[in-house]
Amino acid sequence: MSAIADDLLLFPAPAPATVAVVGESRRLPVNRIFCVGRNYADHAKEMGVEVDREAPFYFLKAASAIVPTGATVAYPPGTSNYHHEMELVVAIGAPAWGVAAEQAMDAVLGYACGLDMTRRDLQLDARAKGRPWDLGKNFEQSAIIAPILPKAQLGALGPQRIWLAVDGVTRQDAHLSDLVWSVPELVSHLSHYYHLRPGDLIYTGTPAGVGPVVAGNVVTGGIDGLPDIRLAIAAAEAM
Ligand code: MN
Repeated sequence: MSAIADDLLLFPAPAPATVAVVGESRRLPVNRIFCVGRNYADHAKEMGVEVDREAPFYFLKAASAIVPTGATVAYPPGTSNYHHEMELVVAIGAPAWGVAAEQAMDAVLGYACGLDMTRRDLQLDARAKGRPWDLGKNFEQSAIIAPILPKAQLGALGPQRIWLAVDGVTRQDAHLSDLVWSVPELVSHLSHYYHLRPGDLIYTGTPAGVGPVVAGNVVTGGIDGLPDIRLAIAAAEAM
């Protein structure tokens, strides 16, 4: 965060994106949003690709893409195949740099339900052309998040069910034990490429069952023990 006085800025700096924390009146300011690709084998299969067992891979979203649960967002521009991806989000609460998996959980503040909303047609077009995924993944209002639960209140990850429904019809249904790369493995791996710091979020990938949503749909999702997530889709904005 800049300590430069407002009158030295050309225009007012935007307010930082923040996320609620259960049991805490203060909010988590978001630094970076890392998203893991292909972290459930069944989802990789439905996307026509295989999980890379050598190493996880990532894309990023701008912190400004954060939207709180309960919001209504407009159907985004440039797509005709806007998809839901239900995900476990890991919130980093302490610095981590080159840490082993055995120490990685020391950097984790807690967990939240998240939606990695995706312009699937643009993502797949970029993938086919060997181009970056930004148009398909890193767009406005594409990172939905519910309040963060401190990790001690959830306990060990694994048995929790992760699910998503559209208008009450279940589309995604799996368990956190299906994650290919575990949370400690992801935090450790990322910390060898970035100085992880408080406010970094990791969207850990989605299970099988991704699919399109349209204006008028209401998306709901949950992970056992965490606050649920909800997103309503409104009509596209006029240009
Ligand atoms: Mn995803």
